Amino acid sequence: MIKVRFAPSPTGNLHIGGARTALFNWMYARSQSGRFVLRIEDTDLQRSRPEFVAEILESLRWLGLSWDELYYQSKRFDLYRRHAEDLLSQGKAYKEGEAIILKSALQEIKIDDLIRAEIVFDTATIKDQVLIKSDGSPTYSFACVIDDADMAITHVIRGEDHISNTPKQIMIYQALGFKIPQFAHLPLIMDEEGGRLSKRSGAVAVSDYRKEGFLPEAIVNYLMLLGWSPGGNQEKIDLAAAVKKFSIKKINKAAAVFSMDKLKWLNGQHIKEMETGRLTELIIPLLEKERCGIKDFDGQRLKSIVHLFKARMSTLVDFLEWTDFIFVDRLTINQEMKAQHLAQDRSKEFRLLSEKIGQLNSFDAATIEKAFRDLVDQLGIKASDLVHPVRVALTGRAIGPGLFDTMAILGKEKTVQRLKETFL
Ligand code: GLU
Repeated sequence: MIKVRFAPSPTGNLHIGGARTALFNWMYARSQSGRFVLRIEDTDLQRSRPEFVAEILESLRWLGLSWDELYYQSKRFDLYRRHAEDLLSQGKAYKEGEAIILKSALQEIKIDDLIRAEIVFDTATIKDQVLIKSDGSPTYSFACVIDDADMAITHVIRGEDHISNTPKQIMIYQALGFKIPQFAHLPLIMDEEGGRLSKRSGAVAVSDYRKEGFLPEAIVNYLMLLGWSPGGNQEKIDLAAAVKKFSIKKINKAAAVFSMDKLKWLNGQHIKEMETGRLTELIIPLLEKERCGIKDFDGQRLKSIVHLFKARMSTLVDFLEWTDFIFVDRLTINQEMKAQHLAQDRSKEFRLLSEKIGQLNSFDAATIEKAFRDLVDQLGIKASDLVHPVRVALTGRAIGPGLFDTMAILGKEKTVQRLKETFL
């Protein structure tokens, strides 16, 4: 039975790197019909906080990475102490004050890393290791080894930043006489300049991405591409399909590069292909928070707005910017837009257009378009001469979905009013 674990320390929020480690463990467990253990490594009583535990659990749930077993190291101190005392009585460890320390046993240590192939460690530099600190708490490596053995973890899949811990931990396995699991060290994640992932380059908490309007399926999709690929140039893939294709052997050794633009693009792809009703449900809470007057919009109308802007959003929050003109009563158009698109006096055309469409009985895009084209023909001007200024007058923007769809969504009253007031 394959068993893996994700072992976060609750001294901070769940970040991109941790989430990728969790995901790769989860995908491996699910692809092998194995078990995924979540182990909270809260041995540092000073730095561990319950609110970080809650945040980590919530972020994993949101991403869809369900666990089969959950442990807290803070509840297992007795177990660590028992093992430390066994090592003392066997003469493999010694005491220094209250601390218990493992005698280093020099030897060649090598592992067959599932991603990096054979790694031979130089153990000459490994000194005697503290197992239990003088305050009675276990060190990370000691608790980690005991738990991995006790929980029957078969594969330790973790970031490459832990490679230097591996030989130290193997020494502890050997001292305890425990079976050594298989190791797989995931490639580092770097920013586009080749540096460490920083806050600026995207290493923010998963919960922040959530607030910014990213979808869990897009985050998960992007994370799996940091070191792995479903093959055949495919990039957009859902978790269930990825699990079917997943293999540790296909994970890259080379560092993965985190690109915010790529994540946004992928998020946009997931938004575009999401069923409009579901997307609308995700957007409604954002609207309720950010836009007053939303109560006047019925579900069907919101759905058509979402449908119209779906292809233009890269995050859910983008929707607010794109559609601001629909929710406000009075539109403010910035000076630059005015100078660029409304400098020429079109008051006559705007007045005629507002009168013409003010008389329409039905206000769908096709009807509006016909009225618009009739007027343009009558005036002997080109449609494009009027399309651009009208768009800016109605939306405050020079780009957007089709003008007649936009007018229909905005509604007759606001459309007519804005046309009338533009050149006052
Ligand atoms: N608590 C360690 C961390 O958060 C776990 C490392 C491991 O997977 O062994 O980095």
